[in-house]
Amino acid sequence: MRRKLLFGNWKMNKTREEAKAFAVESVALNKYALAHNIDIGVAPAFLSLCGVKKMNPDLTVAAQNCHFEDHGAFTGEISIPMLLDLGVTWCLVGHSERRTYFAETNETCNKKLLALFANNMTPIYCVGETLAEFEANKTKDVIKEQVLVGLKGLTKENVSKLVIAYEPVWSIGTGKNASTEIAQDICHFIRELVHEQFGEVSEEVRILYGGSVKPENVKAYLSQKDVDGALVGGASLKVDSFKQLIENVVSE
Ligand code: PEP
Repeated sequence: MRRKLLFGNWKMNKTREEAKAFAVESVALNKYALAHNIDIGVAPAFLSLCGVKKMNPDLTVAAQNCHFEDHGAFTGEISIPMLLDLGVTWCLVGHSERRTYFAETNETCNKKLLALFANNMTPIYCVGETLAEFEANKTKDVIKEQVLVGLKGLTKENVSKLVIAYEPVWSIGTGKNASTEIAQDICHFIRELVHEQFGEVSEEVRILYGGSVKPENVKAYLSQKDVDGALVGGASLKVDSFKQLIENVVSE
């Protein structure tokens, strides 16, 4: 039985004080979610990782990115040992904004996934098609490439701990949701791809939907068979809205 997972991606938002205030307010929320078998977490900016962990040590905290090398001449980058040094054990990989603005490819995502697993970390691997690809009916081709290349060389044990987020690029931050049918169809397709490559362990992979998820629509997504949770941007920034997301899932 896969546990539900609601994850907030704060992107480049919140000062350290704002992030800490959220963390303090979310202590009770985390307990409430866990009591209802829902795992929750947030991905703050690098500078706030420490503060959030300190204020709410039980909340799962992810970095939004990492480098695949342990150290070296990579100005501006953050390595996995640096994250582990802070006690951070989760990391987003391949968010569409990283792919679009920072030229992240399926190959670099693969290197990051391999490096994260080599360090016993949990990646949330983001995949999704652009609007042009969606309109050209290429969604499944794009997803297939992202999954096959991204997961190359992973072991079954790695895959059992992997989280994949299906986030159609055209729905991120736009208010244009993918229908629940599309979300289920593509999340199921991803599970089938993982099954073809890795076998039965595909049943253990948590697959999230992301793209303009709000308290009003979260329940509909999470009631789909292959949608195990949500990766949420805008609606995760305010603790009240994050709380509402969790409460609406609980009321399922
Ligand atoms: C995201 O940042 O991954 C995301 C899905 O953003 P939003 O919920 O704002 O569309």
